[in-house]
Amino acid sequence: MKAIVLSRRSHREYDEIISLYTYDNGRVEVLAKGNKKIVSKQSPFLEPFSIIECAIIPGREIDHLAKTQSVEYFPRIRQDEFKSRAGIWAATLTRALTPEHVPDKHIFFALKNWLEFLEKIDNASPIILDAFAIVLMRLLGFIPQLEECVICHKEFKIIAHDFLANENKLEPGIYYAGGGLVCGQCRLLKQNIGEEIAVLGLQELSALSLLVKGDWRLIVDFEIEKSESIRLHEVVYKFVLYHSEVPLRNWGFLFTMSELASRMVT
Ligand SMILES: [Zn+2]
Repeated sequence: MKAIVLSRRSHREYDEIISLYTYDNGRVEVLAKGNKKIVSKQSPFLEPFSIIECAIIPGREIDHLAKTQSVEYFPRIRQDEFKSRAGIWAATLTRALTPEHVPDKHIFFALKNWLEFLEKIDNASPIILDAFAIVLMRLLGFIPQLEECVICHKEFKIIAHDFLANENKLEPGIYYAGGGLVCGQCRLLKQNIGEEIAVLGLQELSALSLLVKGDWRLIVDFEIEKSESIRLHEVVYKFVLYHSEVPLRNWGFLFTMSELASRMVT
């Protein structure tokens, strides 16, 4: 069956536990016997975010991986340190957020398409990983509501209009417990009673709605200031954390990495 490698970790002296997102069975954890021996033929194919063709043999405690063949290794992602870290993180997110043994072909294709896109582009920025996180959340049933204020139901268009026309600007926000957008007035009301809300400008909200639509191409070309994309990233990270309820490290370090990379180019 076709599978995407999500992670690998040592098990006993020579074995490894491989986490896979399979086309047929969703996320599974399998044992790769003798994988760490230098002679092992399948080992190079089992790097995170590789696509493989394999057989899974039922075992007593854990299923075994067999007959592994490489389908796609993504050499251009691996040559680039930033892209390679982003690829590993997309795999890590998929492993952390998806339930075991629940097949979802949309998730399989979302990760595969995202990796194929990352392989092709030259101008990868950290926002592309936030885009993947939001798509994954959407497929898992968590969609941030952005069309209107989740409290007073004022439409986004009107919120944007009021914001631009008004002298005392009240920025809208994202209300995690409420599931999405809040207008400036509702944001203040909720913040006054201690609710957790991220303040977001209009540009960041437009970027967030692009992320929700999941078009990687548009996201890469979207004009957004670095400080705005970092604020946006924090919102995406907290949104994922709020709904997933799993301990998940912040992948914001990618912003520092891409900064280093661009400095080296100029
Ligand atoms: Zn409101």
